Amino acid sequence: MKSMAFDDAARALVETGRRLDARGWAPATAGNYSVRLDDGSFAVTVSGWHKGRLTPAGIMRIDGKGRAIGQNKPSAETALHLALYRLFPDVQAVLHGHSPEAVGLSRAAEGQSEWVFRGHEMLKAFPGNATHEAEIRLPIVENSQDMAVIDAAIAPRLLEPGAAPAYLIRSHGLYAWGKDLDEAERVLEATEWLIAAELAELGFRRAWKQ
Ligand SMILES: [Zn+2]
Repeated sequence: MKSMAFDDAARALVETGRRLDARGWAPATAGNYSVRLDDGSFAVTVSGWHKGRLTPAGIMRIDGKGRAIGQNKPSAETALHLALYRLFPDVQAVLHGHSPEAVGLSRAAEGQSEWVFRGHEMLKAFPGNATHEAEIRLPIVENSQDMAVIDAAIAPRLLEPGAAPAYLIRSHGLYAWGKDLDEAERVLEATEWLIAAELAELGFRRAWKQ
């Protein structure tokens, strides 16, 4: 897979931030994004930047251990991005958002460790899946301020058959990834769409029963 140089990655992440913020998935500086670079380091969003108002100055480089290259401070969740890059050597981009729908579903699914999508045409947006006649499982992990705790709980479940290239942190947000930034954005959009469609369906079913 083609890796990117820092300047190209920074420009692409600025554009990604504008689009994800426009969808309401990056409120109040929430979310963080990263790209694996061609020298083995990573481009990540700087802590505290509003993702709809990013400039290349809001993107920084870190090494494979998460140490800053330069003066800036990376997002607190950078460790979760690096854990995904270690787990999946082909992954080149990771996106994380805090949409109200993703967070709402994770809370409504209290006590559940996953949400299963079945029968949706949109399942074909996931890499390697060519049919709606599939079952794709979105793992849900409990939130923690200790990234090592989240990583230890979620990593084995991401390797299980049928797991989406995405997961939910309860009451927090959604992670998605791909073999390049476009694929990561497609997975994020597809997962957000599936969550919104299922929440709408649950609302209609409840209304019609009354
Ligand atoms: Zn977050």
